[in-house]
Amino acid sequence: MGVDKNSIKCAVCTKNSCMRGTVIRIKDYYVIVCNLCALKYNYGERSMKKIIGIDPGLKGGIVGIEGNELKFAHNLPTFIFEPLSKQHGRLTDKNALHAIISGFKPDLIVVELPRGRSNLKTVINYGWSVLGAITAYGDCELIEVAANSWPPKLNLPKGGTKEQKILDRAKFLEGLGYTLPKNKVGNYRDGIVDALCLAEVGKVL
Ligand SMILES: [Zn+2]
Repeated sequence: MGVDKNSIKCAVCTKNSCMRGTVIRIKDYYVIVCNLCALKYNYGERSMKKIIGIDPGLKGGIVGIEGNELKFAHNLPTFIFEPLSKQHGRLTDKNALHAIISGFKPDLIVVELPRGRSNLKTVINYGWSVLGAITAYGDCELIEVAANSWPPKLNLPKGGTKEQKILDRAKFLEGLGYTLPKNKVGNYRDGIVDALCLAEVGKVL
C-alpha cells in the first residue's frame, strides 16, 4: 500500500481523506480545499459564474445555476417530426435548446459527452442537435465530460444501480442546499439531477 497521490488535507474541513481538491486563493495565499467544501462555500474562480449543465440524452435535462441558486430546470426540449418518426422517433429541439441557452447567457456550459457504449442515435443527436445549439450560441466556455469521469470529482459513491446513483446524487445536491424538482409521483427527475451535478462539476474542473 503506497501513499495515495490524490489524498489531500482540506484547509476548511481539515479532513485528509478527501480524494479531490480545488486550489483557491484567500488574500495572498493559495490553499487546497476538498471539492465538497469548494461547492458548499462557493470557493473557486468559477463558483459565482452562470453555469448551464446538460444531460444530453433524449430523456435528459438542462439546468442553469448562479452560485448555488437554481435558476431554471427543464427536460431537454424534444420534438417528433412525423414523416420520419418511425426511423428517428424523438429528436432534440435545437431551436428551443438554443433559446434556453441564449436567454440565460451562461459563462460556462458543462455537457456529458456520449460515446463508447451509447447507442448511435444518441451520438448523432448529440452532434447535430445538442452540440449544434451550443455552438450556435458560442459566447461561453464549453466543457464536455465523459460519463464515468465526473462522479469521482464530486466524491459520489461508486457502483450501485441507476436508481441508487440518482438517489446518491440527489442527496449530494440537497446537501449543497438545492431544492430539487420532482415528478408527479414524487420521484427525482433523473435528467435534472444529472444536469445539476454536471453544472456543479464545472465549478471544480
Ligand atoms: Zn473540506
